[in-house]
Amino acid sequence: MDLKDIESTSQEQGRLHQKLWEMTQTWQPDSVIPSASDLSRARASLPKSLTENGAGFENTTQHILNDLVPAFNRSSISPNYYGFITGGITPAALFADNLVSAYDQNVQVHMTEHSISTDVEHNALGLLADLLRLDRSQWHNGTFTTGATGSNIQGIACGREFVLRAAAKKKGISIDSVGEYGLFELIHAAGLSGVQVLTTLPHSSLTKAAGILGIGRANVKSVCRDDHYLQFDMEKVEAELARSDKASIIAVSCGEVNTGHFATSTLSEMENLRRLCDKYGAWIHVDGAFGIFGRVLEGPEFSTISKGCEGMELADSIAGDGHKLLNVPYDCGFFLCRHAGEANNVFQNANAAYLNGAQSGGPSIPSPLNIGMENSRRFRALPAYASLVAYGRTGYRQMLERQIRLARMLTEWLYDHPKYTALPKLDNKEALLDQTYISVLFSAKDEELNSNLPKRINETSKMFVSGSAWQGRPACRIAISNWRVVEDRDFAVVTAVLDGVAGGRS
Ligand SMILES: *Cc1c(COP(=O)(O)O)cnc(C)c1O
Repeated sequence: MDLKDIESTSQEQGRLHQKLWEMTQTWQPDSVIPSASDLSRARASLPKSLTENGAGFENTTQHILNDLVPAFNRSSISPNYYGFITGGITPAALFADNLVSAYDQNVQVHMTEHSISTDVEHNALGLLADLLRLDRSQWHNGTFTTGATGSNIQGIACGREFVLRAAAKKKGISIDSVGEYGLFELIHAAGLSGVQVLTTLPHSSLTKAAGILGIGRANVKSVCRDDHYLQFDMEKVEAELARSDKASIIAVSCGEVNTGHFATSTLSEMENLRRLCDKYGAWIHVDGAFGIFGRVLEGPEFSTISKGCEGMELADSIAGDGHKLLNVPYDCGFFLCRHAGEANNVFQNANAAYLNGAQSGGPSIPSPLNIGMENSRRFRALPAYASLVAYGRTGYRQMLERQIRLARMLTEWLYDHPKYTALPKLDNKEALLDQTYISVLFSAKDEELNSNLPKRINETSKMFVSGSAWQGRPACRIAISNWRVVEDRDFAVVTAVLDGVAGGRS
């Protein structure tokens, strides 16, 4: 279609936005994943090549709504989709995200007369720091990323700057920035063989970050206790930090992706890590993709979780996800750092005079292009801002409480079930329940059923789980991250499916 007709379609667009809104807010899907026939119909509808004249706006929207949308999964729309950790989308975030596309602000340079978007992004980071009980005087900085993977890359990159500078300084060497001189020159000058990341049960994206950043996936090392699946062995930590041939970054799994459990369980553990890292010039990065939100909780019911994310304010950097527990759409993650200037050493977009921001009064806000990976970037902060403004601390606390309560109800039910095993296997049910956050990891006792368990559950289309593995055996994970959780209703759905798949309790 001729692009000059676009003006006349903008009213049509308004109508469609309204329709989209109604579809996603009121539609209660009866299946969480598309049927095989909807998928094959959608595949058959995809064009074989680009047409010369285009199908036009009306035909295209009908094609997308009628052919493609039925073949989407209902990951954020259904409360019973428990795969990955997708989160939902709050109504405020959905509203804001539509505006982000409509107005298409490019949030890369802070120019005070040009747009409010960089101010909004900076403000949203402050609201997040408030939500996570991080002191603004130290933590009100950072950037919105595409997700926790992006944030982990930021954190390890900033850590790499810091630890190599510390190592070089010890030798009285003035080459001091990887961003400026490159990894090889710095490693060589400091007389090191490399950088290592010390952690326990890291998310795969942390290893990916090490690969991207020239640290190497093989240099992500476990410093886990031999008698525990997740906790730090402080003796191993110190022995590695004391090595003279490596500079080290510690990565804390603040919310491990399979179990949802926390790598540290007291403030004093974080204090110990901090003390050791200060002694040896190491950096602490927290991967708190979903776990860091545990800091909104209060009271004895959730005290084990609260303790698991105590002391994270002692870290140097924190990665978090927006599209998980913040319940804003993909793509959104955030990165916060106690050393506000460090990101500039890595990411500065040097020598582009036309991209210099114009500063005229107001707070000094760094241009995002100098502190993050991208230059041009989406206004992904607006949905986060909208949702934080709309629901506040109490809204987020109550949302998380509902999610945890459902996870604990299901964990207890599985623990007592003759045909299932709640994981990790603990002798003490209460201890497992206290540690249960938003993930329910489990397996079937019967080998045959266990090897097909995710498939059998997902075939019902009443709920969706991720297949995983735990200590060498296949396992299933129910990740509860949607604001739409209603504990009793969803408990009934899940237990009916799991009982059905196992052929009852006896
Ligand atoms: C999901 C997750 C990530 C990766 O996040 P993306 O948003 O997929 O990039 C990293 N760490 C942990 C602990 C996670 O749960």
